[in-house]
Formats: sequence, structure tokens, C-alpha cells
Amino acid sequence: MTDAHPLDLPEGDLFGPDNLPYGLFTTAETPERHRIGVRYGAHVLDAGAVAAALGSEHTALLQAPALNPLMAAGRPVWDAVRAELRGWFTDRAHAAVVTPHLWSLSAVTLHLPFAVADYVDFYASEHHATNVGRIFRPDGDALTPNWKHLPIGYHGRAGTVVVSGTPVVRPQGQRKPRDETVPAFGPSRRLDIEAEVGFVVGTPTQLGTSVPLSAFRDHVFGVTLLNDWSARDIQAWEYVPLGPFLGKSFATSVSPWITPLPALDAARTAPPARDVPLLPYLDDAGEAEPGGLDLRLTVTLNGHTVAEPPFSAMYWTAAQQLAHMTVNGASLRTGDLYASGTVSGPEPGQRGSLLELTWGGSEPLELPDGKRAFLEDGDEVVLSAWAPGPGGTRIGMGEVRGTVSHSA
Ligand code: CA
Repeated sequence: MTDAHPLDLPEGDLFGPDNLPYGLFTTAETPERHRIGVRYGAHVLDAGAVAAALGSEHTALLQAPALNPLMAAGRPVWDAVRAELRGWFTDRAHAAVVTPHLWSLSAVTLHLPFAVADYVDFYASEHHATNVGRIFRPDGDALTPNWKHLPIGYHGRAGTVVVSGTPVVRPQGQRKPRDETVPAFGPSRRLDIEAEVGFVVGTPTQLGTSVPLSAFRDHVFGVTLLNDWSARDIQAWEYVPLGPFLGKSFATSVSPWITPLPALDAARTAPPARDVPLLPYLDDAGEAEPGGLDLRLTVTLNGHTVAEPPFSAMYWTAAQQLAHMTVNGASLRTGDLYASGTVSGPEPGQRGSLLELTWGGSEPLELPDGKRAFLEDGDEVVLSAWAPGPGGTRIGMGEVRGTVSHSA
């Protein structure tokens, strides 16, 4: 029996010709040369090398040492490049040119695929916001009065967005338990995850302009999984009145793979019904295409599944978040990254943070290797996801992996 040709994928492979996520890789032979890669099954295609060999008009974009030039090129070019890539994988006339430029995933190193410009994190799950409100403010209303009128967010730290696999050093900082009168300093004792979906902006905008709901696809290049690591003890002491700061900014992990928006077309779904009338710039009732996405996330801790959050339950859509983020005239830059906020569904097993899964640490998870309220040094968290694809197929999203290491 001979090995299958790498262009022939096993039935049900999550990374087939309808997916084609983009990444950035190096090989052991040329570790200084960053190349744009396109994932296909368990292989990575050196897209720039094939483009050059076939005389593609997009060779310069695909030979760049990061995705940013391609991301800046805009929707018509993204769609043309995607169609070309699809042809390279599906038209066997190209097989002799394509095959030598396929690298086994196990033979390459994956890198942060784009230079992150600004980073924004939202708070778009009603279930998550309600749970957190109940845990952090047990005597007040779970949702703040603005929550259903605008997508709440904050600007995070772009420089500490790291690629999957980067160790997460336990942050140090101030924490003050409720029964103490003064804060103490030390390593966080309540280190947590937030399972999120990130949206990567390609096409920039001019300062003083806004992006309407209908222009979402013109500006957003693709989607990635994201873990917003969170130190709950640092966060609880610092967050009033200006929001998250050092409890979040020590690390945000993203997948090495950016899923192009069209790969998720079959996953588009209507968001939950709105409970209050929305201002016109956020009102998506009249939009031609539904703004939600049916992404099925899985969170594992040391190999054990602890949650399966459904992205389809998110109250606010990525298009609404982009519209809100720019409605004041703030401009977009190529490489802007904005995240959905923790994805939590209505069921207990659908909560995307340990804070919720253990109800503030009061109900530890019982795992085969011990109890967990929050993360311990050496713990490994992996986020993965799939979405419905065309014709009953599944579209996989690149996983995001991180292991907690001891405070420096
Ligand atoms: Ca978050």
C-alpha cells in the first residue's frame, strides 16, 4: 500500500479546499525566511513559491514576509487570491508544481501571521456578561444599563498578542481579597482563560469615517480563535472605573491560522432576537445576510474537555462591533484585531471561562488529574472550533494552545 497523495485528503478533513486558512511559517533549513502558508489537510503550502512558479499576478503579495500586504489589498484581491489557491489544490493540472511546495505541518514552525495594529476586546455574550455580573456584583443588576444598547469593549495591548504555543507566564500584580483592607503583591492566584473569536481587519479607513454594517466584509479579512488570558484577582481590584488593564494585558493568544471570511459563509446564522430597539447604525434587522456565525468551540484543560461554547449564541455580531468601534470616526488600520468577548452559551457546560465554570472558584472542576478552580503552573489549555461548511462538510479553525509557566 502506498501513502495517499497529499492533495487527496481523508474523508471529512477539516482543512479541505473550502477552508484554506492563511498562516506564516519557517522551516528548519531557512529559519530566518518567513513565508505565507496556506493550510491543506496536515500540510502547509508555500503560497509564494507556487505563485512564482505559476507566474501569478499575486506573487508579490504571497511572497511577503507577513500577511499584512495581502490583508491591505482589499476584498476583490482576497477573493481573487482565494479562487486561485483553490484551483492550485483542486485542479490536478497544477499538481506537479504544487506538490513540491507542500510541507508537513510537523516539519515547520508557525508564527504570528500578521503584525497586530490595535487590539480591542468586546463583551458580546449575554450569558457571559450575566454570569460575570452575578459573580462580581452579587448585589447589583447582572447587566449594566448600557449592555443591550451598545457592544461594550475596551482597548487592549496589541504588543502582547502572541501566537499559539507561546508559554504564558503567570502575571504578578496587586490583589485585594474582599476581607482584607490593603492590597498584597504577588503572582496571580486566579489565572483564567476566556475562549473568544478574533476578527482581523484588512482594509483600513480614513480618520473621521465610519464602517456601516453593510461594509463588514469589505474590511474584515478573516477570523481566528483567541484566548484572552485573565488574572481575576488583579482584574477584580483594578477594573473600577476604567475597565480591564493589567489583569488582561500580560498575554493574549491567537491561532496561527486566519480563516478567510468566505470559508464561513455556510456558517452564517441569525443572531438572537434583540430585546430593545437598536439605534440605526447597529440595527441589523434589514441586513441582507445574517450577521451571526455558527462556530462550535471546544475548550480543553490538560486534554479534558471542560466546555463547548456556541458562538451562535452571541448577542452582538462582529459587524455590529466593527460599526460601533468606528462610529465615532476612529480609523481602522491593517492588522487591527478585535475579539468577540468570552463565548458562553446558556448551559453550564457551554461557559468559556473558569470563572463561570467554577462560579468564581467556589465550585472547582473535578478533572481526572485533580480539582481545578483556576489554572495551575503547567496547565495546558487548548481552544479549537469547527463550523458547518458547504454540502455538509466541516470547516476547522486552527487551534490556540497555551501552557502556564511559573512567574518570572
Ligand atoms: Ca475578554
